[in-house]
Amino acid sequence: MAKDCNNDTNSILITYDCVNQTFTYPASADTQFGVTFDGRPLWEILSAGGVINREKADALQSRILGLATAKAPQVSFTECCMKNAEGESRRTRIGFVCPFPGTYIHISFTDIEDEVSVGKRCGENRQDDELTGLLTRRAFYNAVTNILEQDKAGVAAGEYAMMHLNVIRFKAINDIFGSEAGDKVLRYIAQRTMEIFDEDDVACRTDADRFILFTHSSGEELERRIEEFLEILTNYQLPFEIACNIGIYVTCAEELPVDAMLDRALLAQSIIKGSYTKKYNYYTEDLRKEMLGELEIVGMMGPALEERHFVVYYQPQYSHSTGMLVGAEALVRWKHPERGLISPGVFIPIFEKNGFISKLDLYVFEEVCAFVRQSLDKKNRVVPISSNFSKYDIYMPDFVEKLEEIRKKYDVPVEYLRIEITESAVVDNPKFTNDIICRLHDCGYIVEMDDFGSGYSSLNVLKDIELDMIKLDMLFMSKDAENERGDIILKSVVRMAEWLGMPVIAEGVEHLEQADFLGSIGCDCIQGYLYSKPLPEEEYEKKLSCSNI
Ligand code: C2E
Ligand code: CA
Ligand code: CA
Repeated sequence: MAKDCNNDTNSILITYDCVNQTFTYPASADTQFGVTFDGRPLWEILSAGGVINREKADALQSRILGLATAKAPQVSFTECCMKNAEGESRRTRIGFVCPFPGTYIHISFTDIEDEVSVGKRCGENRQDDELTGLLTRRAFYNAVTNILEQDKAGVAAGEYAMMHLNVIRFKAINDIFGSEAGDKVLRYIAQRTMEIFDEDDVACRTDADRFILFTHSSGEELERRIEEFLEILTNYQLPFEIACNIGIYVTCAEELPVDAMLDRALLAQSIIKGSYTKKYNYYTEDLRKEMLGELEIVGMMGPALEERHFVVYYQPQYSHSTGMLVGAEALVRWKHPERGLISPGVFIPIFEKNGFISKLDLYVFEEVCAFVRQSLDKKNRVVPISSNFSKYDIYMPDFVEKLEEIRKKYDVPVEYLRIEITESAVVDNPKFTNDIICRLHDCGYIVEMDDFGSGYSSLNVLKDIELDMIKLDMLFMSKDAENERGDIILKSVVRMAEWLGMPVIAEGVEHLEQADFLGSIGCDCIQGYLYSKPLPEEEYEKKLSCSNI
């Protein structure tokens, strides 16, 4: 049985091949559950090892086999208790994703025990919710199923809504103010819910700070109630503020079981989770497609890295006054065997969400080091290459040490390697970022601020950060910049950088006039389609060998 890499420490991803009826298990599964994942079907391994009981194993088997024959893409979730390697019962969320019917199914197991911080843990064993007085999960399911049966016309006409509600940062409330305060919040929410929604609406607390509600209202009426509910929450007695995120699924002609409606409400909620500005969100079909696309990418990312499907392109940087190639930026692409070249704009934001970005960035950095080493060995001309680092990378433990380890492995002189950190990293946490920059300086790296001007960095912040170079955000090169106002802004930005003693690189330069103008105001270093697009390694190598020394 193949074992592939799994990247999220809290999650195990298992893939079921619907055609060959085999599973691929990650090596981390053995350690997580303390059983051996061999050639047996997943449900066999889990039940034989005592991770779940026979009944749950049967349910798992029928769910997977059912999905394997589904005719449309599927995504669903369930939760149950599973024993970990230490024999502890841990609340676990199980996700099932089948993006292409009949091909494969990704099954994810996420330990959510730590999210569940109060009260009774395994909801399905609970007889009633003593804490809030709301329905138990089973009673809720029964009540909603009854409504779905009895008012089919109303359900099809979109008169009902399923909502999933989550208290923002509830765990922090519990940790800081104690579980009694947490319980009070939950009771308050339950009471207010029942006041604002009708008596025949049904509500349940599924786990800790999660509530579900099925209401006979939609449209403006529903919005009014939600707004009122959120408003009441803000009136909660100090010392802390409470707020919720709500995902809403409005019923329609498509007949769905309660679980599927909840999945959709949960999906809508997951998009805004943690947001204090957008507190509720509706499920849409586009959202589902987007989610499926994302999950598809997440499922493919680990194997793609192993199989070296991520390749590095190099975009040359030129001195406009001399026409010399003076540097390059490394830009990653995903060479997908079926989908072709996938742009980083598609996968980087997803990797930033799930943390995979740090693995990828170190991989790209290593590819750059290997390339420079090879060029040095061939006695080719070498110019500095900048690598992009996400704002999340700098929080990796031993980030600087990791870079040094890679650099030393290839014995690359540090002057050939530059580090690009985005403006947003600096804005988010100037002090921390500056400490990292100082440590990079100690090792001899030149650090560039990427996308300067895209966000909110003020002169005030910049003057305290020990950056070496500034890369002007491409927005400066947009049409707007062709008018006089744009020119004035550019001029002052370059002057400001000069005043701070930092050279400037202009990105996204497509026209000669832009480059000439930039040159006239003191920005000579140009990266953009005017000179060259990002190139595959061999083409870049050729271009570099032809350029003057
Ligand atoms: P970025 O770092 O600002 O990179 C510059 C982007 O502008 C690149 O897009 C490049 O192809 C594009 N570009 C360069 N010259 C021109 C031009 O004249 N006109 C136009 N319209 N575009 C130009 P790309 O390669 O698609 O990368 C997009 C973004 O993805 C990058 O923006 C960067 O934020 C991110 N990225 C790329 N590779 C990596 C990586 O290895 N790690 C991380 N963390 N992010 C990366
Ligand atoms: Ca960059
Ligand atoms: Ca940039």
